[in-house]
Amino acid sequence: MTRPRRFSAAMPGTVDDALRLHLLRDDGQEDICLVTYAPSTGASRTSALLKEVVLPKPGERSVHGNASFTGDYVVRVASIAAAQGLGIALAHSHPHGSGWQQMSGPDEDAERSFAHLAHAITGHELFGLTVAGDHAWSARRWNADARCTEAESVRVVDSHLRVTWNEALRPVPMPQDSQIRTISGWGEQIQGLLTRLRVLVVGAGSIGHDIAIRLAATGLLHVAVMDFDDLERVNLDRMPTATWIDVALRRGKVEHALRQLRLAATAGRPDLHGFEDSICEDLGQRIALDYDVIFSCVDRPWPRAVLNQLAYSDLIPVIDGGIAIDPFADGNGMRNATWRSHVLRPGRPCMVCTRQLNPADVTLDQQGLLEDPEYIRQSGRQKPARQNVAALAISPAASQLAQFVSLVVAPGGLGEPGPLQYVLSTHQLIALPTSLNPECFFERTTGLGDARVELTGVHESAERTRAARRRAQRSTRIRLARAGDRLLTSAQRKWTELTCPESRL
Ligand SMILES: [Zn+2]
Ligand SMILES: [Zn+2]
Repeated sequence: MTRPRRFSAAMPGTVDDALRLHLLRDDGQEDICLVTYAPSTGASRTSALLKEVVLPKPGERSVHGNASFTGDYVVRVASIAAAQGLGIALAHSHPHGSGWQQMSGPDEDAERSFAHLAHAITGHELFGLTVAGDHAWSARRWNADARCTEAESVRVVDSHLRVTWNEALRPVPMPQDSQIRTISGWGEQIQGLLTRLRVLVVGAGSIGHDIAIRLAATGLLHVAVMDFDDLERVNLDRMPTATWIDVALRRGKVEHALRQLRLAATAGRPDLHGFEDSICEDLGQRIALDYDVIFSCVDRPWPRAVLNQLAYSDLIPVIDGGIAIDPFADGNGMRNATWRSHVLRPGRPCMVCTRQLNPADVTLDQQGLLEDPEYIRQSGRQKPARQNVAALAISPAASQLAQFVSLVVAPGGLGEPGPLQYVLSTHQLIALPTSLNPECFFERTTGLGDARVELTGVHESAERTRAARRRAQRSTRIRLARAGDRLLTSAQRKWTELTCPESRL
């Protein structure tokens, strides 16, 4: 059975400010306006990305306790939207309401009566939005036949990611005894908000693996990891949960991470997923569009470019980070190590502007040249050494997780802090410049949604790696070893159930 498509709406903080300025009036009356949106179509969720607020001209709406508007206003804004390939959303206010709003009879009639017209002019479905007096948003989508589907959430992407959840579709998860210490850190309300976020970790190596496990332990319901790569011996020093057996059984990084997530999760009914796709593939990108926050734990230029764009084009905050270790040239001693973290979102500089991504390397990576020894020799480039140290690998993960907490919890009312860098030699934490480049290609894609420049394509090394792993997993030796491992795991689970009946392993 295919699940029905889910809907959401998202807007940058600037659009939220402009809408509230108009809709939440000083005189306490309801008001109304239209806003253009771009669709962002994920594998299972469609989001309306709000773009431009088009205020009514004199005579196009009247305010009389509640508000009404003319068909001319709808036609005018729908024509502006159609010329840009966008849809329209009808936004109004409930100044005395709080939380997710139900529609009144007149609300429903007004939205229904324009659903067909909006679709006929723009080719996109009409969205309806309501802002309550406490700044909570609610949203729904009308199809061309004027049938309404409630959205599951509305996301305001700013230094503090503010999400209003539709309690009927996404109820607060039941707090668990094992989460008492976590909940006492920020209270049940914040726990209820953040545990409903859908979070994707791209890259399940040492840093991504640690991040995903901490998210599941925090009680998040929806944690997913994406990685096409194998788990190899060279990963074992920085992944304390992985063993020689995992390598011998030819587990991919995702299979291993998912097993660990199931053990670490504290949510009552966690919904954990692993994807062996590449974010550089069309399907990988579509899966990513279903998530509210993405962690970037990849070091290759191509996947980093895809994530760098999604943060702006699809309004999904991407928390990026990494570590650089600088040994002396003779290999004898360490000069320095630095790790950094930053949130990519409209209003913050992108990876290119902070020199975390060189656009010239993206094409080389797409062509597979960065792994080609002949190309590396001829171009005089250094093969990436990818130094990492188990004792330090936790630090960039911790730094990215702290950015996540700042983004979604906003301690002290402050959101994420901008790019940070820690310098190990001097033990200094440095706040890096946050100035924006108005010419930046990536930042100019803000809110384009499905009209983004597609950076995805055939990712040959991902296809080769997955195919080789599948072949290896089909060998008799590994099939037998895996069957034995399954028996042991199930015996271990039975033993846990016997000794600790309240556990949920
Ligand atoms: Zn209303
Ligand atoms: Zn930029």
